[in-house]
Amino acid sequence: MNIHEYQAKELFERFGVPSPNGKVASTADEALAAAQEIGPDNLVIKAQVHAGGRGKGHFKNGFQGGVHLCSSPEQVQEIAGKMLGEVLVTHQTGEAGRLVRKVMVAESVDIDKEYYLAILMDRESGAPVIVASTEGGMDIEEVAESTPEKILREGVHPLAGLQAYQIRKLASKLGFAGDQAKAFAKLLSSLYKLFISLDCSMVEINPLVVTPDGRVLALDAKFNFDDNALYRHPEVKAMRDTEEEDPREVEASEYDLNYIGLDGNIACLVNGAGLAMATMDIIKHFGGDPANFLDVGGGASKEQVAAAFKIILSDPNVKGILINIFGGIMDCNVIAEGVVAAARETGLELPLVVRLEGNNVEAGKATLAASGLDIVAASTLADGAEKIVAALK
Ligand code: GDP
Ligand code: MG
Repeated sequence: MNIHEYQAKELFERFGVPSPNGKVASTADEALAAAQEIGPDNLVIKAQVHAGGRGKGHFKNGFQGGVHLCSSPEQVQEIAGKMLGEVLVTHQTGEAGRLVRKVMVAESVDIDKEYYLAILMDRESGAPVIVASTEGGMDIEEVAESTPEKILREGVHPLAGLQAYQIRKLASKLGFAGDQAKAFAKLLSSLYKLFISLDCSMVEINPLVVTPDGRVLALDAKFNFDDNALYRHPEVKAMRDTEEEDPREVEASEYDLNYIGLDGNIACLVNGAGLAMATMDIIKHFGGDPANFLDVGGGASKEQVAAAFKIILSDPNVKGILINIFGGIMDCNVIAEGVVAAARETGLELPLVVRLEGNNVEAGKATLAASGLDIVAASTLADGAEKIVAALK
């Protein structure tokens, strides 16, 4: 799960990570009020979407930039009017862009130098790693590509935690000395505490800045949380903004289904993540393109299966469906009943290939046969994939 920058600021405040004072607004008038409260001048307004690259982005209405420095509350109000309700396109949003529903108004600060600082879970070591660079403010992927030596990495032992010598080492490599090194140390140890306490998978500050008066501040924030740990943090879970997510994935999560939308046209309904991956692979192997990853899990109910079926049908790109069930804990007849109920309700007209195997398969096949639906039966995984690809040709 991701959160907005203005929400990240609340977490920064709670954990003592210094960042400029900011307020969120949903209308131009609210932005004006926020700006009046924050200060007469030295203001910055930022579009709030779950994507980076806002500064260099553009709006579909032609307005340039999702981050603007302003010298008066009236200017903030005017720019808020140009951003709110408009679609912002950045290199991270793709061509479709993101609708801006909120803006953040903050105190702007003067910048002496910009840095990059992130903490993430490193899959290779299975532990947190600090990533830092003197090349902040810009596209870090580009820095990693062209000057990889400018990216510092410091692995953290998950039990011992971040050590003072590691912070000193990073501070020195980034060129911090004296009070600035102390300020950086305080910020990084607070950030690490936040990262661990809230089960983050990533926190990224780009840019981290040093101001002319020597303060070290987080000027931007991108967070990622481990979804499996969200139950431990209801206050973080409450920050979820489903408007920023794929509506199909939001609905799937309401039914506890593991669904990820893809670009192809063959919908898949499968039990088990490994089988779902194999199903997508074999569709590709026979020249098709999967429209989604969907794992209904081991113990799905008829209602969950029906919901899953409706979610895959709600994708206008879907031109055919492959159901591939290997019944273990899963009862094949539960799947069959869910599919028949959903197909009846939605008036299914797309080609549907079904491969059922395992637990209670005979009853499942009988339910499908008795339904009167136009179903192509498949005997193996390969047979099913070939049949659905052929049906679309
Ligand atoms: P992003 O483009 O989505 O990463 O948004 P950021 O919040 O990082 O803002 C983009 C850029 O705007 C930053 O890299 C800074 O260079 C600049 N910027 C943002 N806030 C301020 C500020 O308070 N003062 C100044 N001088 N520049 C800012
Ligand atoms: Mg940034």
